[in-house]
Amino acid sequence: MKEKLERLKTLLREVSDIESASAVLHWDQSTYMPPAGAAARGRQLGTLDRIAHEKFTAPVIGELLEALRPFEAEHPYDSDEAAFLRATRREYEKAIRVPSRFVAERSAHSAASYAAWVKARPANDFAAVQPCLEKTVDLSHQMADFFPGYDHVADPLIDWVDRGMKAETIRALFADLRAELTPLVHAITRHPPADDSCLHRHYPEAAQLAFGQQIIEEFGYDFQRGRCDKTAHPYMTKFSLDDVRITTRVDEHDLSQALFSILHEGGHALYEQGINPAYEATPLGGGVSAGIHESQSRLWENQVGRGRGFWEHYYPLLQKTFPGTLDDVSLDRFYRAINKVERSLIRTDADEVTYNLHVMLRFDLELELLEGKLAVRDLPEAWRDRFEADFGLPVPDDRDGVLQDVHWFGGLVGGAFQGYTLGNLLSAQFFSLATVAHPDISARIARGQFATLRDWLRENIYVHGGKYTAPELIERVTGGPPRIEPYMAYLREKYGELYDL
Ligand code: ZN
Repeated sequence: MKEKLERLKTLLREVSDIESASAVLHWDQSTYMPPAGAAARGRQLGTLDRIAHEKFTAPVIGELLEALRPFEAEHPYDSDEAAFLRATRREYEKAIRVPSRFVAERSAHSAASYAAWVKARPANDFAAVQPCLEKTVDLSHQMADFFPGYDHVADPLIDWVDRGMKAETIRALFADLRAELTPLVHAITRHPPADDSCLHRHYPEAAQLAFGQQIIEEFGYDFQRGRCDKTAHPYMTKFSLDDVRITTRVDEHDLSQALFSILHEGGHALYEQGINPAYEATPLGGGVSAGIHESQSRLWENQVGRGRGFWEHYYPLLQKTFPGTLDDVSLDRFYRAINKVERSLIRTDADEVTYNLHVMLRFDLELELLEGKLAVRDLPEAWRDRFEADFGLPVPDDRDGVLQDVHWFGGLVGGAFQGYTLGNLLSAQFFSLATVAHPDISARIARGQFATLRDWLRENIYVHGGKYTAPELIERVTGGPPRIEPYMAYLREKYGELYDL
């Protein structure tokens, strides 16, 4: 049995190595690759993805998993051995249901629709992507149908990124959130928006990067096992547990771009760097779901990085980093600027209070597309109607409407957005539990000390990697399912004080 286990781990390590090589090529593509390299890079990525898929779905993996069933049964559910075999079997059974020709078709379609979107968005030309998106919806149905027996056609697609979550559960959770959030947004936006002009002065790039990186190093991000580079759309990527990288973008006239994207991606990276090293190159060696991952990025970005205590410590340092630039701006004015609430068009620029309305709009439209209640050609109009109903703002064009996000132009529709809001909800649940365990966490943050918080997160969440499914992990940590109350309490307390509600 030991021998079979080792053999399985060796084969999985090869798959993981190929996937990591593919991740390096992706990272290079979005950071340093010259533009003319794109065509060959697409082919190279396609080749690696195909080889990884073939190796992972090879019959020998299934045979080893079968042969190891008695070994798995001997080990308690909580053991690393049982968890490793459980997670591998789950991934394997998923992967073998999806035929290689579909993987290839999806990956070619994904490249084509991304290329079409890159041109269509600046041209404000939805008609140019409509056929692509119709095919995407079709491929999404095919993908779902590889997993028959679902309650809702989106369930298999959601499960792919937020394992164990279902459309109906999320729909109910989001309906409750919407009912609570909408009056809060109304109450806040009755006031004039905060003046955030101080964030739009001139902030030299090098100093911005150094400042953001110093903060995440103090959070606990290990630069010996990571680095930070510039890109157009920031993200985190991982080549091994000892090489977890982040990317950011810098605007010399918008301080918040680089700063908060570094804190956000740094939060994702802290999670990956904190995973049990024994899980390296196995299905346990990564963050468990989109929602849990986003809970960590949002926790460090918002609960910590947009808090008043945090800036009591860092604001004097920020003023020193940009000599003369913020001399006339008080801490209070700065704090209000970085927490400005405003109804706005773009999800990625949205504040903590309105952000989830953007996500829920997308989630609901995804479900309608998949249910066949909404045709792709009617999507721009559906977007405009829903946006106006939710935000009270007209959508001036598709560029800043239905075309703004890349997600629907990357291969599949369904499951792309709910993780953001689940992450927000969970960030508040986790943060409040950490402060119950250690009531001095807030006082420590105001002194620039993060070890207590980070260690609590590491012990309760990071170290487990993919050992538990997302619902299992949430249950273990919080004693129940995701809830909206801690998030609403956090928003009410913070913004109640800011806006005298
Ligand atoms: Zn994120």
